[in-house]
Amino acid sequence: MRNEFLVFGSPLIEQEEVDEVVDSLKSGWIGTGPKVHQFEEIFRDYKGVKYAMALNSCTACLHLSMLSINLQPGDEVIVPTMTFAATANVVIHAGGKPVFVDSLRDSMNIDPADIERKITPKTKAIIPVHFAGRACDMDTILDIAKKHDLKIIEDCAHAIETEYHGEKAGTFGDIGCFSFYVTKNIVTGEGGMAITNNQEYADKIKVMGLHGMSKDAWKRFSDEGYKHYQVVYPGFKYNMMDIQAALGIHQLPRVDSYWLRRQEIWDTYNEAFKDLPVFTPAPVAPDTKHAYHLYTLLLNIDRLSITRDQFLDEMTKRKIGVGVHYIALHLHPYYQQTLGHKRGDFPNAEWISDRTVSLPLSAKLTNADVDDVIEAVQSILT
Ligand SMILES: *Cc1c(COP(=O)(O)O)cnc(C)c1O
Repeated sequence: MRNEFLVFGSPLIEQEEVDEVVDSLKSGWIGTGPKVHQFEEIFRDYKGVKYAMALNSCTACLHLSMLSINLQPGDEVIVPTMTFAATANVVIHAGGKPVFVDSLRDSMNIDPADIERKITPKTKAIIPVHFAGRACDMDTILDIAKKHDLKIIEDCAHAIETEYHGEKAGTFGDIGCFSFYVTKNIVTGEGGMAITNNQEYADKIKVMGLHGMSKDAWKRFSDEGYKHYQVVYPGFKYNMMDIQAALGIHQLPRVDSYWLRRQEIWDTYNEAFKDLPVFTPAPVAPDTKHAYHLYTLLLNIDRLSITRDQFLDEMTKRKIGVGVHYIALHLHPYYQQTLGHKRGDFPNAEWISDRTVSLPLSAKLTNADVDDVIEAVQSILT
Protein backbone atom coordinates (compact mmCIF):
# COMPACT_ATOMS: atom_id res chain seq x y z
CA MET A 1 0.00 0.00 0.00
CA ARG A 2 0.97 3.66 -0.53
CA ASN A 3 2.71 5.52 2.25
CA GLU A 4 1.28 8.92 1.45
CA PHE A 5 -2.37 9.85 1.08
CA LEU A 6 -3.19 10.76 -2.53
CA VAL A 7 -5.11 14.01 -2.23
CA PHE A 8 -8.12 14.19 -4.57
CA GLY A 9 -7.84 16.99 -7.12
CA SER A 10 -4.42 18.19 -6.05
CA PRO A 11 -3.17 20.60 -8.75
CA LEU A 12 0.14 20.61 -10.60
CA ILE A 13 1.98 23.84 -9.67
CA GLU A 14 5.30 24.48 -11.40
CA GLN A 15 8.31 26.71 -10.77
CA GLU A 16 7.07 29.49 -13.09
CA GLU A 17 4.02 30.02 -10.88
CA VAL A 18 6.18 30.12 -7.77
CA ASP A 19 8.47 32.72 -9.35
CA GLU A 20 5.55 34.79 -10.63
CA VAL A 21 3.88 34.92 -7.21
CA VAL A 22 7.18 35.96 -5.66
CA ASP A 23 7.44 38.65 -8.33
CA SER A 24 4.02 39.98 -7.32
CA LEU A 25 4.97 40.00 -3.67
CA LYS A 26 8.24 41.80 -4.33
CA SER A 27 6.67 44.33 -6.70
CA GLY A 28 4.27 45.36 -3.97
CA TRP A 29 1.35 45.21 -6.41
CA ILE A 30 -0.48 42.18 -5.06
CA GLY A 31 -4.09 43.24 -5.60
CA THR A 32 -5.89 43.62 -8.95
CA GLY A 33 -3.30 44.84 -11.42
CA PRO A 34 -1.30 44.05 -14.54
CA LYS A 35 -1.21 40.27 -14.05
CA VAL A 36 -5.00 40.09 -13.74
CA HIS A 37 -5.24 42.13 -16.91
CA GLN A 38 -2.80 39.81 -18.69
CA PHE A 39 -4.70 36.72 -17.54
CA GLU A 40 -7.96 38.21 -18.86
CA GLU A 41 -6.32 38.90 -22.21
CA ILE A 42 -4.88 35.42 -22.71
CA PHE A 43 -8.12 33.79 -21.59
CA ARG A 44 -10.11 35.99 -23.95
CA ASP A 45 -7.81 34.95 -26.81
CA TYR A 46 -8.00 31.28 -25.78
CA LYS A 47 -11.79 31.43 -26.02
CA GLY A 48 -11.95 33.78 -29.00
CA VAL A 49 -14.45 36.12 -27.35
CA LYS A 50 -14.65 39.89 -27.02
CA TYR A 51 -14.64 40.19 -23.23
CA ALA A 52 -13.19 38.22 -20.31
CA MET A 53 -13.55 39.42 -16.72
CA ALA A 54 -11.51 37.77 -13.98
CA LEU A 55 -13.19 37.51 -10.57
CA ASN A 56 -12.36 35.70 -7.35
CA SER A 57 -14.56 32.66 -8.09
CA CYS A 58 -16.85 31.05 -10.62
CA THR A 59 -19.62 31.54 -8.06
CA ALA A 60 -19.04 35.30 -8.24
CA CYS A 61 -19.16 35.11 -12.05
CA LEU A 62 -22.45 33.21 -11.94
CA HIS A 63 -23.92 35.62 -9.38
CA LEU A 64 -23.02 38.71 -11.43
CA SER A 65 -24.32 36.97 -14.55
CA MET A 66 -27.70 36.63 -12.86
CA LEU A 67 -27.64 40.35 -12.02
CA SER A 68 -26.45 41.27 -15.51
CA ILE A 69 -29.45 39.66 -17.16
CA ASN A 70 -31.51 41.72 -14.73
CA LEU A 71 -33.10 38.86 -12.83
CA GLN A 72 -36.12 40.10 -10.89
CA PRO A 73 -37.65 38.75 -7.67
CA GLY A 74 -39.74 35.72 -8.49
CA ASP A 75 -38.00 35.03 -11.81
CA GLU A 76 -37.25 31.35 -12.35
CA VAL A 77 -33.95 29.96 -13.54
CA ILE A 78 -33.62 26.38 -14.69
CA VAL A 79 -30.65 24.48 -13.27
CA PRO A 80 -29.81 20.78 -13.19
CA THR A 81 -30.30 19.19 -9.77
CA MET A 82 -27.13 17.23 -10.54
CA THR A 83 -24.63 20.03 -9.93
CA PHE A 84 -22.66 21.86 -7.30
CA ALA A 85 -24.64 24.03 -4.87
CA ALA A 86 -23.25 27.30 -6.27
CA THR A 87 -25.16 26.84 -9.54
CA ALA A 88 -28.47 27.13 -7.68
CA ASN A 89 -27.38 29.40 -4.83
CA VAL A 90 -26.50 32.30 -7.14
CA VAL A 91 -30.07 32.33 -8.43
CA ILE A 92 -31.30 32.75 -4.86
CA HIS A 93 -28.66 35.45 -4.15
CA ALA A 94 -30.04 37.41 -7.11
CA GLY A 95 -33.60 37.12 -5.79
CA GLY A 96 -34.73 34.41 -8.19
CA LYS A 97 -35.95 30.86 -7.76
CA PRO A 98 -33.93 27.87 -8.98
CA VAL A 99 -36.08 25.32 -10.77
CA PHE A 100 -34.47 21.90 -10.83
CA VAL A 101 -34.34 19.63 -13.85
CA ASP A 102 -33.35 15.98 -14.11
CA SER A 103 -30.25 14.72 -15.91
CA LEU A 104 -29.57 11.98 -18.42
CA ARG A 105 -28.03 8.84 -16.97
CA ASP A 106 -25.34 8.28 -19.57
CA SER A 107 -24.06 11.85 -20.13
CA MET A 108 -25.04 13.04 -16.61
CA ASN A 109 -25.95 16.31 -18.34
CA ILE A 110 -29.21 18.25 -18.05
CA ASP A 111 -32.12 16.56 -19.86
CA PRO A 112 -33.50 18.97 -22.52
CA ALA A 113 -36.91 17.25 -22.49
CA ASP A 114 -37.21 17.95 -18.76
CA ILE A 115 -36.15 21.59 -19.33
CA GLU A 116 -39.17 22.00 -21.64
CA ARG A 117 -41.49 20.51 -19.02
CA LYS A 118 -40.29 22.98 -16.34
CA ILE A 119 -40.64 26.19 -18.35
CA THR A 120 -43.30 28.60 -17.04
CA PRO A 121 -44.13 32.24 -17.88
CA LYS A 122 -41.71 33.20 -15.09
CA THR A 123 -38.73 31.36 -16.56
CA LYS A 124 -35.97 33.79 -17.39
CA ALA A 125 -32.84 31.72 -17.97
CA ILE A 126 -31.21 28.30 -18.10
CA ILE A 127 -27.87 27.46 -16.51
CA PRO A 128 -26.54 24.38 -18.31
CA VAL A 129 -23.57 22.72 -16.55
CA HIS A 130 -21.13 20.89 -18.83
CA PHE A 131 -20.88 18.04 -16.36
CA ALA A 132 -17.41 16.58 -15.70
CA GLY A 133 -16.31 18.42 -18.85
CA ARG A 134 -18.79 16.78 -21.24
CA ALA A 135 -20.65 19.29 -23.41
CA CYS A 136 -24.40 19.57 -22.89
CA ASP A 137 -26.71 19.06 -25.87
CA MET A 138 -26.35 22.72 -26.81
CA ASP A 139 -28.20 22.55 -30.15
CA THR A 140 -31.37 21.46 -28.40
CA ILE A 141 -30.88 23.80 -25.44
CA LEU A 142 -30.29 26.79 -27.74
CA ASP A 143 -33.46 25.92 -29.66
CA ILE A 144 -35.47 25.79 -26.45
CA ALA A 145 -33.99 29.11 -25.29
CA LYS A 146 -34.81 30.75 -28.59
CA LYS A 147 -38.35 29.41 -28.64
CA HIS A 148 -39.10 30.69 -25.13
CA ASP A 149 -36.88 33.78 -25.21
CA LEU A 150 -34.61 32.64 -22.37
CA LYS A 151 -31.06 33.65 -21.50
CA ILE A 152 -28.36 31.04 -21.23
CA ILE A 153 -25.58 31.32 -18.67
CA GLU A 154 -23.18 28.40 -19.04
CA ASP A 155 -21.65 26.96 -15.87
CA CYS A 156 -18.27 25.98 -17.32
CA ALA A 157 -16.59 25.17 -14.00
CA HIS A 158 -15.68 21.73 -15.38
CA ALA A 159 -15.37 22.82 -18.97
CA ILE A 160 -12.30 24.96 -19.66
CA GLU A 161 -11.31 22.82 -22.69
CA THR A 162 -14.78 21.62 -23.69
CA GLU A 163 -15.89 22.02 -27.30
CA TYR A 164 -19.14 21.17 -29.06
CA HIS A 165 -19.56 21.07 -32.84
CA GLY A 166 -16.45 23.14 -33.33
CA GLU A 167 -17.34 25.82 -30.78
CA LYS A 168 -15.91 26.39 -27.34
CA ALA A 169 -17.84 26.01 -24.09
CA GLY A 170 -18.83 29.35 -22.64
CA THR A 171 -19.48 30.93 -26.05
CA PHE A 172 -22.93 29.41 -26.73
CA GLY A 173 -24.99 31.38 -24.29
CA ASP A 174 -25.03 34.97 -23.12
CA ILE A 175 -22.25 34.55 -20.56
CA GLY A 176 -19.90 31.64 -19.74
CA CYS A 177 -18.47 31.19 -16.24
CA PHE A 178 -15.23 29.34 -15.46
CA SER A 179 -13.56 28.25 -12.23
CA PHE A 180 -9.90 28.09 -11.27
CA TYR A 181 -10.57 26.60 -7.84
CA VAL A 182 -7.83 24.24 -6.59
CA THR A 183 -9.38 21.07 -8.01
CA LYS A 184 -10.23 22.47 -11.46
CA ASN A 185 -8.34 21.90 -14.70
CA ILE A 186 -6.23 25.02 -14.29
CA VAL A 187 -5.99 26.78 -10.96
CA THR A 188 -5.41 30.16 -9.34
CA GLY A 189 -6.19 28.97 -5.79
CA GLU A 190 -9.55 30.68 -5.85
CA GLY A 191 -10.63 32.37 -9.06
CA GLY A 192 -13.09 32.58 -11.88
CA MET A 193 -13.59 34.13 -15.32
CA ALA A 194 -16.76 35.36 -17.00
CA ILE A 195 -16.71 35.59 -20.79
CA THR A 196 -19.18 37.20 -23.16
CA ASN A 197 -19.48 38.93 -26.53
CA ASN A 198 -22.01 41.39 -25.09
CA GLN A 199 -20.50 44.71 -24.05
CA GLU A 200 -23.35 45.60 -21.71
CA TYR A 201 -22.89 42.37 -19.73
CA ALA A 202 -19.12 42.84 -19.72
CA ASP A 203 -19.40 46.37 -18.33
CA LYS A 204 -21.92 45.34 -15.67
CA ILE A 205 -19.76 42.45 -14.49
CA LYS A 206 -16.66 44.65 -14.37
CA VAL A 207 -18.40 47.37 -12.38
CA MET A 208 -20.43 45.13 -10.05
CA GLY A 209 -17.36 43.00 -9.30
CA LEU A 210 -15.51 45.93 -7.74
CA HIS A 211 -17.84 47.77 -5.35
CA GLY A 212 -19.92 49.18 -8.21
CA MET A 213 -17.17 51.67 -8.90
CA SER A 214 -16.94 53.06 -12.42
CA LYS A 215 -14.82 51.19 -14.94
CA ASP A 216 -11.08 50.85 -14.44
CA ALA A 217 -11.24 52.09 -10.87
CA TRP A 218 -8.42 49.64 -10.08
CA LYS A 219 -6.08 51.94 -12.01
CA ARG A 220 -6.64 54.80 -9.60
CA PHE A 221 -3.34 54.21 -7.77
CA SER A 222 -1.26 53.60 -10.90
CA ASP A 223 1.41 55.82 -12.40
CA GLU A 224 -1.14 57.28 -14.80
CA GLY A 225 -2.05 59.64 -11.98
CA TYR A 226 -4.85 59.52 -9.43
CA LYS A 227 -8.31 59.27 -10.94
CA HIS A 228 -11.61 59.76 -9.15
CA TYR A 229 -14.12 56.95 -9.36
CA GLN A 230 -17.87 57.13 -9.19
CA VAL A 231 -20.05 54.56 -7.47
CA VAL A 232 -22.82 53.62 -9.86
CA TYR A 233 -24.16 50.48 -8.16
CA PRO A 234 -23.97 48.88 -4.68
CA GLY A 235 -21.43 46.39 -5.97
CA PHE A 236 -19.54 43.43 -4.59
CA LYS A 237 -15.97 42.65 -3.60
CA TYR A 238 -15.30 40.01 -6.21
CA ASN A 239 -12.07 41.15 -7.86
CA MET A 240 -9.20 38.76 -8.58
CA MET A 241 -5.75 39.54 -7.15
CA ASP A 242 -2.47 39.61 -9.06
CA ILE A 243 -1.20 36.87 -6.72
CA GLN A 244 -3.96 34.64 -8.11
CA ALA A 245 -3.49 35.70 -11.73
CA ALA A 246 0.24 34.97 -11.30
CA LEU A 247 -0.76 31.30 -11.26
CA GLY A 248 -3.26 31.61 -14.10
CA ILE A 249 -0.93 33.23 -16.62
CA HIS A 250 1.37 30.19 -16.41
CA GLN A 251 -1.33 27.55 -16.00
CA LEU A 252 -3.33 28.55 -19.08
CA PRO A 253 -0.49 28.04 -21.59
CA ARG A 254 -0.22 24.46 -20.24
CA VAL A 255 -3.93 23.75 -20.59
CA ASP A 256 -3.42 21.41 -23.57
CA SER A 257 -0.51 19.45 -22.13
CA TYR A 258 -2.43 18.93 -18.87
CA TRP A 259 -5.48 17.87 -20.88
CA LEU A 260 -3.44 15.28 -22.80
CA ARG A 261 -2.12 13.83 -19.56
CA ARG A 262 -5.64 13.55 -18.11
CA GLN A 263 -6.86 11.93 -21.31
CA GLU A 264 -4.11 9.34 -20.95
CA ILE A 265 -5.13 8.63 -17.36
CA TRP A 266 -8.79 8.52 -18.43
CA ASP A 267 -8.06 5.87 -21.08
CA THR A 268 -5.97 3.87 -18.64
CA TYR A 269 -8.83 3.87 -16.11
CA ASN A 270 -11.41 2.90 -18.75
CA GLU A 271 -9.33 -0.10 -19.77
CA ALA A 272 -8.60 -1.17 -16.19
CA PHE A 273 -12.23 -1.00 -15.02
CA LYS A 274 -14.07 -2.35 -18.04
CA ASP A 275 -14.79 -5.79 -16.55
CA LEU A 276 -15.68 -4.60 -13.03
CA PRO A 277 -19.26 -4.18 -11.76
CA VAL A 278 -19.22 -0.48 -12.60
CA PHE A 279 -20.38 1.81 -15.37
CA THR A 280 -17.41 3.67 -16.82
CA PRO A 281 -18.03 7.10 -18.40
CA ALA A 282 -20.01 7.14 -21.64
CA PRO A 283 -17.89 7.48 -24.80
CA VAL A 284 -17.16 11.04 -25.89
CA ALA A 285 -19.82 12.17 -28.37
CA PRO A 286 -18.69 12.77 -31.98
CA ASP A 287 -17.60 16.30 -32.88
CA THR A 288 -17.10 17.28 -29.24
CA LYS A 289 -14.11 17.71 -26.96
CA HIS A 290 -14.43 16.43 -23.42
CA ALA A 291 -12.50 18.44 -20.82
CA TYR A 292 -11.81 15.31 -18.75
CA HIS A 293 -12.37 17.18 -15.51
CA LEU A 294 -13.89 14.37 -13.43
CA TYR A 295 -13.45 10.65 -13.92
CA THR A 296 -16.60 9.23 -12.42
CA LEU A 297 -17.33 5.56 -11.91
CA LEU A 298 -20.94 4.60 -11.33
CA LEU A 299 -20.91 1.59 -9.04
CA ASN A 300 -23.30 -1.15 -10.11
CA ILE A 301 -24.64 -1.42 -6.56
CA ASP A 302 -27.17 -4.09 -7.55
CA ARG A 303 -24.24 -6.42 -8.22
CA LEU A 304 -22.12 -5.39 -5.23
CA SER A 305 -22.21 -6.42 -1.60
CA ILE A 306 -20.95 -3.00 -0.45
CA THR A 307 -22.57 0.41 -0.67
CA ARG A 308 -21.11 3.42 -2.41
CA ASP A 309 -20.22 5.00 0.92
CA GLN A 310 -18.43 1.83 2.05
CA PHE A 311 -16.48 2.01 -1.21
CA LEU A 312 -15.42 5.58 -0.35
CA ASP A 313 -14.21 4.38 3.08
CA GLU A 314 -12.29 1.50 1.55
CA MET A 315 -10.55 3.83 -0.90
CA THR A 316 -9.62 6.20 1.93
CA LYS A 317 -8.21 3.24 3.92
CA ARG A 318 -6.02 2.50 0.92
CA LYS A 319 -4.84 6.14 1.02
CA ILE A 320 -6.63 7.21 -2.14
CA GLY A 321 -8.65 10.44 -1.98
CA VAL A 322 -12.05 10.26 -3.69
CA GLY A 323 -14.92 12.63 -4.40
CA VAL A 324 -18.70 12.51 -4.90
CA HIS A 325 -20.02 14.74 -7.67
CA TYR A 326 -22.71 15.13 -6.55
CA ILE A 327 -25.51 14.33 -4.17
CA ALA A 328 -28.31 15.90 -6.24
CA LEU A 329 -29.29 19.32 -4.88
CA HIS A 330 -32.93 18.38 -4.29
CA LEU A 331 -31.77 15.81 -1.72
CA HIS A 332 -30.16 18.52 0.47
CA PRO A 333 -32.18 19.93 3.38
CA TYR A 334 -32.17 23.60 2.32
CA TYR A 335 -33.71 22.98 -1.10
CA GLN A 336 -36.10 20.39 0.29
CA GLN A 337 -37.35 22.86 2.88
CA THR A 338 -37.59 25.87 0.58
CA LEU A 339 -38.60 24.24 -2.71
CA GLY A 340 -40.59 21.31 -1.32
CA HIS A 341 -38.58 18.59 -3.00
CA LYS A 342 -38.31 14.96 -1.91
CA ARG A 343 -36.59 11.79 -2.99
CA GLY A 344 -38.30 10.49 -6.10
CA ASP A 345 -38.60 13.87 -7.84
CA PHE A 346 -35.62 13.38 -10.16
CA PRO A 347 -35.04 9.65 -10.71
CA ASN A 348 -31.99 9.85 -12.97
CA ALA A 349 -30.13 12.34 -10.80
CA GLU A 350 -30.86 10.14 -7.78
CA TRP A 351 -29.66 7.08 -9.65
CA ILE A 352 -26.36 8.90 -10.30
CA SER A 353 -26.18 10.33 -6.75
CA ASP A 354 -26.42 6.86 -5.23
CA ARG A 355 -23.69 5.34 -7.40
CA THR A 356 -21.17 7.97 -8.33
CA VAL A 357 -17.54 8.12 -7.22
CA SER A 358 -14.87 10.43 -8.64
CA LEU A 359 -11.30 9.13 -8.83
CA PRO A 360 -8.15 11.29 -8.86
CA LEU A 361 -7.58 12.76 -12.35
CA SER A 362 -4.96 15.47 -12.05
CA ALA A 363 -2.06 16.10 -14.43
CA LYS A 364 0.03 15.87 -11.28
CA LEU A 365 -0.55 12.10 -10.95
CA THR A 366 2.47 9.90 -11.66
CA ASN A 367 2.07 6.55 -13.38
CA ALA A 368 2.68 4.95 -9.97
CA ASP A 369 -0.21 7.01 -8.51
CA VAL A 370 -2.50 5.86 -11.33
CA ASP A 371 -1.47 2.24 -10.69
CA ASP A 372 -2.26 2.70 -6.99
CA VAL A 373 -5.74 4.02 -7.79
CA ILE A 374 -6.42 1.11 -10.15
CA GLU A 375 -5.12 -1.47 -7.68
CA ALA A 376 -7.27 -0.02 -4.90
CA VAL A 377 -10.44 -0.04 -7.03
CA GLN A 378 -9.80 -3.58 -8.28
CA SER A 379 -9.06 -4.93 -4.82
CA ILE A 380 -12.32 -3.52 -3.45
CA LEU A 381 -14.56 -4.56 -6.35
CA THR A 382 -13.26 -8.05 -7.15
C1 LIG B 1 -16.50 24.38 -8.68
C2 LIG B 1 -17.86 24.63 -9.24
C3 LIG B 1 -18.48 25.89 -9.12
C4 LIG B 1 -17.95 26.98 -8.27
O1 LIG B 1 -16.67 27.39 -8.61
P1 LIG B 1 -15.89 28.34 -7.59
O2 LIG B 1 -14.79 28.91 -8.43
O3 LIG B 1 -15.38 27.46 -6.49
O4 LIG B 1 -16.83 29.36 -7.11
C5 LIG B 1 -19.68 26.08 -9.76
N1 LIG B 1 -20.26 25.11 -10.46
C6 LIG B 1 -19.71 23.89 -10.58
C7 LIG B 1 -20.40 22.84 -11.39
C8 LIG B 1 -18.49 23.61 -9.95
O5 LIG B 1 -17.96 22.39 -10.03
